[in-house]
Amino acid sequence: MKLSEKAKISPSATGRINSLAKQKRSSGTHVYNFAAGEPILPNHKSILQGASEAIENQYFPYPPVAGIPELRKIVVEWINKHHNTSFELEGTLVTCGGKFALLLAFEALLNPGDEVLLPAPYWVSFPDMVKLGGGIAKPVLGGTDLKVRPQDLQKHLTEKTKALIFNNACNPTGVVYTRKEIEEILAFAKAADLIVISDEVYSDVVYDGKFISCGSFPEYRDRVIVIQSCSKNLGMTGWRVGFAFGPADVINAMTALQSQSITGTSLISQLAAVAGFENFPEVNTYVKDTLRKRRDLFVETFEQVFKLPMEKPDSALYIFTSLESLGAEGTDCVKYCERMLEERNVAIVPGLAFGMEGYVRFAFGEPESEIQNGLIALGKK
Ligand code: PLP
Repeated sequence: MKLSEKAKISPSATGRINSLAKQKRSSGTHVYNFAAGEPILPNHKSILQGASEAIENQYFPYPPVAGIPELRKIVVEWINKHHNTSFELEGTLVTCGGKFALLLAFEALLNPGDEVLLPAPYWVSFPDMVKLGGGIAKPVLGGTDLKVRPQDLQKHLTEKTKALIFNNACNPTGVVYTRKEIEEILAFAKAADLIVISDEVYSDVVYDGKFISCGSFPEYRDRVIVIQSCSKNLGMTGWRVGFAFGPADVINAMTALQSQSITGTSLISQLAAVAGFENFPEVNTYVKDTLRKRRDLFVETFEQVFKLPMEKPDSALYIFTSLESLGAEGTDCVKYCERMLEERNVAIVPGLAFGMEGYVRFAFGEPESEIQNGLIALGKK
């Protein structure tokens, strides 16, 4: 059968390594999985309780397209209070994960041929998601600190540039931008008349430094869409609950697109998310403290195994490191990752998937013994 142009999209690179790892596991081999971008830990009890209570209701009609009123209300109050934003209820949409919120935003905002600036290294899914939305992603490499600045973006600006994707706190690098850096980027976006799609799904998995939302600058409100999610901040990846916040006209268009595609997000998941936000400090501390311990253990073990100092990432659950640090300089990163999976049973994602050759990304979402033993297996002579 002849497939559409749209279908010529590759499955996410992290997903591919993950499924190769799973295949190996199912044949009985133990695989150390540094590829999965999620906190592997039981859900906090308040989330499970919220879902159980929802199930007791025994009635599950279609959900309201934009999300159940109690979730929209609690999440908009949360972001406004917690991240100093001033979003309105009409500008709040519940979606099936942050990923679908991003796709809806691209679909609602892009016309064929529109270009989207994408700071690199970037989250693997962005280029193909922009393509699905009809646009063309234009990767922009930042400085040696892996942060992008207006002068870097300026070089890639054309008359077709419509939007900028800004991912703070960042997957895969863990960098966290300062207020001043964000303000400069927003000022650049305004001068170039760009929409800013600000992916903030790791906002509350910041260990060092202060997270600042792009939505907290009133003067840029009319051009900023903020994407949020329960996946990382509340450790709820499988529940698939995410959010978009922005000007009401954009959110209305995204809601219409949602109504003609997935209808809405599972009621049980939305009620579990309400319970998560009702207990936000407790749930988030549980997730963040677990991940901080795993980050510290990863870095400590890496330093012992590879006899090199490693800087701790400020946020998220990833270590983006050079092949050189692994004693594998001069190798192609895809080949290196394939070889490590084949020979050492260690799953890592090649940096090329994030727009940078010469690097690999480790996720430290797995339990501590897996992190320790996986790094030891990787470093074996
Ligand atoms: N944005 C970034 C930067 C991510 O890393 C991810 C998931 O890994 C997402 C969005 C999607 O998250 P969700 O699970 O909410 O769809």
